Amino acid sequence: LEASFSVIQEENGPINGLITVLHDVTEQEKIEQERREFVANVSHELRTPLTTMKSYLEALEDGAITDPEIAPRFLGVTQNETERMIRLVNDLLQLSKIDSRDYRLTLQWVDFGQFLHSVIDRFEMIAEEKNIEFSRAITAHPTYVQIDRDKMTQVLDNIISNAMKYSPEGEGGNVVITLLHQGHNVRVSISDQGMGIPRENQAKIFDRFYRVDKARARSVGGTGLGLAIAKELVHAHRGEIWVQSEYGEGTTIYFTLPYSTFKGEEE
Ligand code: ADP
Repeated sequence: LEASFSVIQEENGPINGLITVLHDVTEQEKIEQERREFVANVSHELRTPLTTMKSYLEALEDGAITDPEIAPRFLGVTQNETERMIRLVNDLLQLSKIDSRDYRLTLQWVDFGQFLHSVIDRFEMIAEEKNIEFSRAITAHPTYVQIDRDKMTQVLDNIISNAMKYSPEGEGGNVVITLLHQGHNVRVSISDQGMGIPRENQAKIFDRFYRVDKARARSVGGTGLGLAIAKELVHAHRGEIWVQSEYGEGTTIYFTLPYSTFKGEEE
């Protein structure tokens, strides 16, 4: 409920009354407002790379194209911006699919430990180039959960690539990935020794388009949608996702998935 007050008063005269208007800010209005903000964000995010590209293309047209030093650089910029837009549009399409009412996961039983190892293996090469070392504390106990492999791969890709993106440039560091059993859940964690996230920003990082440091996120090529997608997909798997971070020290992203002992697999 929102309230607004108006005072009824002739100029410098006595106060004759007070009007109180109560607005019922319904769920519907909130959704409507979020939708408007989302569209504004999308438009802004698309306009930025387009404006950059336009000015570089104009410079090329105005003569830069014949300069053998400058031309490839300017083309490189437009290429980068195009790639950023493609990433953005792909992320948006993915979110709009998740938002649609008939969104379905294609579930299968997977030994999550093995699955996690295979995802991390794919990152090993890029990690090495960035001086990042993965440490794995993954339970060897068979851990069968029902997941959509492609979607869960995306969750992990988004979180692991953040851990690498926000690790100290050049210095790299350690990225620790754990898998353990916790009651009726399996719990995954991905920790980095990166820049961390100030406490007041932590709750928002799973929101669409939220970025702690816009400039930094832009320079590392972020869309601001990676964790929002991860959150939606984890929730679709009936899990939870959260963050623990110390500014300047590092960040850990945790998520859980409901655990089921595979039939025939006795505890
Ligand atoms: P982006 O594409 O900008 O990385 P995400 O949705 O993946 O978008 O993340 C949202 C924001 O949360 C990032 O812009 C960054 O500010 C912050 N963030 C996410 N992961 C980390 C991390 N491991 N360390 C520090 N900050 C992070």
